[in-house]
Amino acid sequence: MSLHLDRRAVLGGLGASAAATITPKASARTTAKVVIIGGGFGGATAASTLKAIAPEVDITLIETNRAYHSCPMSNLVISGYKDANGQTFRYDALEQFGIKIVNGWATDVDPIARTVTIEENQTLSYDRLILSPGIDIRWGAIEGYDKGDATRFPHAWKGRMQRQLLQQQLKALEDGQTVFMSVPPAPYRCPPGPYERASLIAHYLKTQKPKSKLIILDSKDSFSKMPLFKEAWATHYPDHLEWISASNDGRVSRVDTKAMTLSTDFETYQASVANVIPPQKAGQIADRAEVTDTTGWCPINATTFESVLQPNIHVIGDATIAAPMPKSAFSANLQGKLCAMAVAELLAGRAPQSTVLANTCYSYTTPSQAVSIVGAYTNQDGKFESIPGAGGLSPMQATDSIRRTEAAEAESWFKAITKETFG
Ligand code: FAD
Repeated sequence: MSLHLDRRAVLGGLGASAAATITPKASARTTAKVVIIGGGFGGATAASTLKAIAPEVDITLIETNRAYHSCPMSNLVISGYKDANGQTFRYDALEQFGIKIVNGWATDVDPIARTVTIEENQTLSYDRLILSPGIDIRWGAIEGYDKGDATRFPHAWKGRMQRQLLQQQLKALEDGQTVFMSVPPAPYRCPPGPYERASLIAHYLKTQKPKSKLIILDSKDSFSKMPLFKEAWATHYPDHLEWISASNDGRVSRVDTKAMTLSTDFETYQASVANVIPPQKAGQIADRAEVTDTTGWCPINATTFESVLQPNIHVIGDATIAAPMPKSAFSANLQGKLCAMAVAELLAGRAPQSTVLANTCYSYTTPSQAVSIVGAYTNQDGKFESIPGAGGLSPMQATDSIRRTEAAEAESWFKAITKETFG
């Protein structure tokens, strides 16, 4: 497999508006070293884009896993409607494209010396560092929920093993038993993700364990694509899915994995299976690099993606504070491209230009139907802002055929973005 990335492909992938405003003009300084930590949708895209537009730059991608396991589409896998094999992507194509892949865990960053340490025994120096480490779980943010508790109450919000665990627990559920899901307050990875997962689990229960039910305990009163999800739930899962909002005492503050209970302010629920999606923060290495603020996420200049806390370190993807852009694979991929272009410009001694960005998020409401949300943004003057009137939601009360078409589009989008990111 080879990566078919060249300048035209990179610009084409950005969309017409971005391509019109950004044109890489000349190559970067030949001796420049760029190190990228995290080979997910953000980091892998940044690596291949930078190689395509500035082939002389020495690029090293540090990734702890030998293959990437995708979260997008994983809700279909967990609920038994997709094979897990299609979720895994290797780094061979990136390597063949001239990117050095270091398979290891980056343990430290020294922003003054401009070095990265890998598992205490290897040090790499950089001119520019790009961080795309995704998220970490805030262990202990829910009382009683620490690392060891994730085997009884899986979060399944990162890592293949966690997703497999939740899938196994759902399979082992006896008909008539209750499944719980706890949803954190924003910001977190993939705002509509919990509700897509809830829809697909409810579908599985309806068809395989019809006396069972899923109860969502939410820390919020509203959520992404809410009218569309609520319409789908009323149509498809009136007896199999219940949503309890924060105002109705939905916020889970404590769990007991031995007793298998989840507690809100006024209630304690007995669970057979519980998917606890806890509060999150930027991946750990961002703390080591001193690019997180008190929120646990990374403030950046939206035009250059450079940290506002440390020069020469850029942050992209879920780890950033990029609202109103959501924490999505779509956003991370686009930010990876724009960040690579900004880094090439900075290395060549020029100022990066602002542009127009977009995000599209599909969510399955049944295994064959989906809805979507589209947003458009600018990154002028170092700030992300929504473009008023641009974007929107799928129509309400749409026909099954429209919902099925959106599901087909979701599948095409997944094929396209994984091909572009991993080759
Ligand atoms: P990641 O993709 O998580 O990549 C981070 C990488 O960094 C990982 O490979 C990790 O191993 C590596 N890493 C971290 N720290 C280190 C270190 N110190 N050393 C070495 N390697 C390190 N988004 C969509 O757009 N559409 C969807 O349909 C969608 N569905 C989703 C469904 C679910 C259930 C979930 C949980 C998420 C979904 N997302 C979706 C969101 C999407 O997965 C994330 O937004 C996206 O993966 C973010 O990319 P990233 O590069 O920031 O982080």
